[in-house]
Amino acid sequence: LDYYNNSMNSNEFYGTIEGGGTKFICAVADAQNNILHEVRIPTTLPHPTLAACADFFLQAQRDFGKLTALGIACFGPLDPRPSSPTYGHILATPKPGWENTNVVGFFQQALGADIPVGFDTDVDAAVLAESHWGAGQGFGNLVYLTIGTGIGGGALVDSQLLHGYAHPEMGHMLLPQHPSDNHFPGSCPFHGTCLEGLASGPAIEARWHQKADNLAPDHPAWQLEAHYLALGLMNICLILAPERIILGGGVMNQSFLFPMIRAELTRLLGNYLRLPQIADMESYVVPSGL
Ligand code: ADP
Ligand code: ZN
Repeated sequence: LDYYNNSMNSNEFYGTIEGGGTKFICAVADAQNNILHEVRIPTTLPHPTLAACADFFLQAQRDFGKLTALGIACFGPLDPRPSSPTYGHILATPKPGWENTNVVGFFQQALGADIPVGFDTDVDAAVLAESHWGAGQGFGNLVYLTIGTGIGGGALVDSQLLHGYAHPEMGHMLLPQHPSDNHFPGSCPFHGTCLEGLASGPAIEARWHQKADNLAPDHPAWQLEAHYLALGLMNICLILAPERIILGGGVMNQSFLFPMIRAELTRLLGNYLRLPQIADMESYVVPSGL
């Protein structure tokens, strides 16, 4: 990614992958962000999935020339630290067959070790991209949170992606359960009632016995959803002090959630953080720009 930032020029040509639990989207683009070709590959076992991606890039190289670099944004947990012996691997995932898959190694073998490969989580890539081209431009301290099948967050801290021992897992923070929701066991297989277990799309579906997509805006599900998301955002504010928080993912298609979350976050903070950024909630908690 640093390579991309430092050396973009007009005749360069980039490969990108967004690796998810249901599909891998591969694309090639020029340095002006024009996508030249794109393909969606269903996620099955690691070898057939990654081999289909490699075939796409090999064909793209025949059509357009040699890749300058390949960037991979992938579901985690994974190891994004180039200095680590397990760099480029997926770590302990419940996804059958994917644990310990060496994703970067696979592409270096298939495409040649001379092509630099960037590897990070989907949400780290999202926060980085939002900071360059989307809703986070001009901010060096930024959080991107996706609320979808899971909940995941990426953080930019003083203009660097926050990695630590690997990467944050903010979706699994523990929250106090709302008294009206005490019977709900939560949907996270690891923690039950963590943020993801209380507020992801599948959590909403398990609690209300219908898909989040189909719940009317006046359904009580949404006030509870805004409450849990605001609790999560409050913890993120207090720990990371981001200058802006960007929310994406399927659940946030319900755009009426934004004012509800902002109001609830203001209420929960209790006038504690008297900062101009946070006083201007409408530009503090925003939808993704990309
Ligand atoms: P993924 O997490 O797999 O990348 P999404 O971000 O689209 O994909 O998340 C899918 C989840 O979001 C599902 O649980 C789905 O019910 C929920 N979802 C998708 N679209 C909507 C919508 N318009 N309103 C509410 N929930 C939605
Ligand atoms: Zn969890």
